[in-house]
Order: sequence, then structure tokens, then C-alpha cells
Amino acid sequence: MASKLYIPGPIQVSEKTFRAMCSPMIGHRSGDFKKLYGGIQPQLKELFGTAQPVFLSTSSAWGVMEGAVRNLVGSGKVLNCMCGAFSDKWLDVSKKCGKQAESLQVEWGQPIRGEQIREKLSQGGFEAITVIHNETSTGVMSPIGEICEVMREFPEVLLVVDSVSSFSVVPLPMDELGIDVLLTGSQKALAMPPGLALFSASEKAFARAEQVKGRGYYFDFIEFKKNQAEDMTPSTPSISHIYALRSKLEDIFNEGIANRHARHAELNEMVGSWALRNGFEFFAPEGFRSKSLTCVANNRNIDVAEFVKNLKERHGILIDGGYGKLKGKTFRISNMGDETRETIGELIAALDDSLPQ
Ligand SMILES: *Cc1c(COP(=O)(O)O)cnc(C)c1O
Repeated sequence: MASKLYIPGPIQVSEKTFRAMCSPMIGHRSGDFKKLYGGIQPQLKELFGTAQPVFLSTSSAWGVMEGAVRNLVGSGKVLNCMCGAFSDKWLDVSKKCGKQAESLQVEWGQPIRGEQIREKLSQGGFEAITVIHNETSTGVMSPIGEICEVMREFPEVLLVVDSVSSFSVVPLPMDELGIDVLLTGSQKALAMPPGLALFSASEKAFARAEQVKGRGYYFDFIEFKKNQAEDMTPSTPSISHIYALRSKLEDIFNEGIANRHARHAELNEMVGSWALRNGFEFFAPEGFRSKSLTCVANNRNIDVAEFVKNLKERHGILIDGGYGKLKGKTFRISNMGDETRETIGELIAALDDSLPQ
């Protein structure tokens, strides 16, 4: 039997979401498709906090992360803010796209601060910056309000924000914050199977993209915009995922967005209390801890591999034993998606039972 996933992505997918994916196939240029895609736009815009259209890309999040660089950066520089595995990789991606990429690197476990961005951008010549709101590898949430405040001093620099593991977990109103590209993926905070990415882009972002050469085709923002105007996607999308998304949006709006945020905060607190109760510390500094997962520092020096194994074998539960160079030094537990006080309660009982002595 498959384990229940408490790794920070992919996460557990509900039966309802899986059932929605089995809806009959339709043509992607048909009226039925336009109704499906057009029908979810209002809810998507509300969730993104934008008046702009929301686009669906049949790719994982990296497709749009690469696409953002290719669409928004011309001959100028891009600043990639780096504080963990995913944000670090964005620098490589920018370079592989042939862009002049610079890094703002902080130690893994630390957040990206507004002041650090100000210092870099003051050097001039930047066209865009990339920020990962919630660095899933370290469990650090960077202060997006503070960052957006600083970005107002640099109106010529476009802000790209990855919210893959924080989308719909905490408020992230794109227009109000002045974010130019906000993107997320299906398999983390949205609790769907992997394979779909969602994003929106500001007028400023489209104006830039119009000027940038070499945007390619598959992730061309202008193509997305043209097609979306007719409730379509540039190429054949994973229609099954869009059915799943419609079902997920139904769940989110039935619960209420504010209630969803509150539930994540409460469940995150439950996991955090478990860690403290057992003498652990957090990898992230206080005030910058993720609300969708907990990255526990292994200050007790337990055998993390044994802990992970016990959980899997005794309880059919999967947690993560630390990302990359943090393997064994940390472990990560997700509280994203459809978890409840009851399911997290069961998880905690299993954690207690599996912790090596
Ligand atoms: C998982 C993750 C990604 C990468 O997502 P893919 O679906 O593998 O492309 C990017 N950013 C963050 C913050 C993530 O957690």
C-alpha cells in the first residue's frame, strides 16, 4: 500500500480530486473546454488577488520559472535571490537561458530581506528579480511585504515570485503587493497531482515581454494572453488536471479562503509544538518559519533515517529526511493541502511512536 504523504510535495491527493480527474475528455478548442477554463477564472483571480487573467501551463512549476526569465529579461541583468535548493537553482536556470544572472545568496535557513535586495538593485542594470516566497527545502518564508515595499523604489525592475509551497496557505495578493509574475504548481499547496503550473502576470510584465526577443513558444506569455482571451491555452493542456483544479477550487471556496489560511496556521502550530515538546529546534529563525511545512533542526542528533523508516514501516507515513546537504541534519513535515486537526493529530501520535530513543 502507498504511504500517506507528509513530505513537502507531492502531497496527499483526495479521492474527490482523483475522481474529478476522471471526467470525460473534451476537445481543447471546444465550447465545453472554454466553459471549463473560463468558468474557473473568477475564482482563480480571487485566489491570486489579481484583476489579470490567470494562466494554466501543462508543465511543472519549473516551466513557468524558466519562462518568466525568458519573457522578462532581455539584455539586462536578472537578480536571483537564493536561500535554499529551489531558489539556488533559479540562478542556474537563468544562466542556461543565456541571461546575465547575478545572485543574492544568503545562508540556507535564512530569509531574503528587503535591505539586501535594495543594496543589490542599487547597483543598477537589473530588469527582473526572482524570489521564492516559501523555500521548501529549508522551511523558510521570506517577508514578502517587506520585499515588495523595497521593490517600489525600483519600478523598472520586475518582481517574479514563486509561491509553489505557500499559495493559498497565507495571503499573497498579487496586485496589492505589486508582484509582476506570481506562479505556483499543482502538487504542493494545492494538493493536486503534479503536472500543472498556474501563473499570472502584470501589465508591466506583458509590456516587457513584448520587447524581449527569444521568448520561445511553449512558455511565451504573449501566446498565453492571446489564447486566454478566448478561454483557451496555447497548446493542448492536461484537461484532466483542469477538472481537478475546478474541484479543488470548489473545496477552497466552500471552506473559505480566510478559514483555509487559519487552518494551515493551526496545523503548522500543532507540528511546531510537537517539535518543541520533544526538544527540537527549528531550522528557520523565529518570525520566518513556513506555515505550510516544518523544517525541524536535528539538534538532538537523532538517527533521522531510522525515524523516517519507523514512520513508514509502522504507520505507512512518509516524511522527508532532509533536502540535499541538509539530509540527516533536518527533517521536514508538510501540513499542506487537505489536512485537518484529526489527521495531524494522528500524524503526531505516529511521530511520537516512531521517534528513535
Ligand atoms: C517543488 C518546488 C518547485 C519545483 O516544482 P516542480 O513542480 O518540480 O517544477 C519550485 N519552487 C518551490 C518553492 C518548490 O517547493
